[in-house]
Amino acid sequence: MVYLYQNHPHFTLSSITKTKITIIGSGPAGLMLAAKLDETKFEVTIYEKNSALARKFLVAGSGGFNLTHSEPLEQFIKRYTPSTFFEPLLRSFSNTDLQAWLNSIGIPTFTGTSRRIFPQKRH
Ligand SMILES: Cc1cc2nc3c(=O)[nH]c(=O)nc-3n(C[C@H](O)[C@H](O)[C@H](O)COP(=O)(O)OP(=O)(O)OC[C@H]3O[C@@H](n4cnc5c(N)ncnc54)[C@H](O)[C@@H]3O)c2cc1C
Repeated sequence: MVYLYQNHPHFTLSSITKTKITIIGSGPAGLMLAAKLDETKFEVTIYEKNSALARKFLVAGSGGFNLTHSEPLEQFIKRYTPSTFFEPLLRSFSNTDLQAWLNSIGIPTFTGTSRRIFPQKRH
C-alpha cells in the first residue's frame, strides 16, 4: 500500500506525516493562526470566499491600519468587554508581545502620536 502511494504522482512524504488543518477565512484571525502553526507538523490550507486573501486587512492597511496600542497592559485590558474574559488572553499574549512577534516576522512597527502602533512603511 505504501509502495503504491509513493509512486503516485502527487506523493510527498509530508502529505503522510503532517496533520491537515483547514482554516475558513483569511482575515487577521485566520492568518495569525496559520502563521503560528508549526509547518513541520501541520499542512495548512486556507479557504477564502472573496477573490483576494486578507482583503479587509489590506483595505485597512492602505488607510493607516493600527495594529495595537502602546498603553500599559493594566489599562489596555480595561478596553475590552468583558475584560474578565480577555484578561488571561492578553496577559499570555500582550500588546508588546504582538509587536515583538511582528518584528520577528519582518514587520517592524512604530508608535504614532496617538500611541497607536502601526507597521513601518516600506520604501
Ligand atoms: C475600514 C476598516 C478599518 C479597520 N481598521 C482597523 C484598524 O486600524 N485596526 C484594527 O485592529 N482593526 C481594524 N479594523 C477591524 C479589523 O479589520 C477586524 O477586527 C478584523 O478584520 C477581524 O478579523 P477576523 O479574522 O476575525 O475577521 P475578518 O477580517 O472579517 O475575516 C474573515 C474572513 O473570512 C471570510 N469568510 C467568511 N465566511 C467564509 C466562508 N464560509 N468561506 C470562506 N471564507 C469565509 C471572509 O471573506 C473574510 O475574509 C478595521 C475594519 C474596517 C472595515
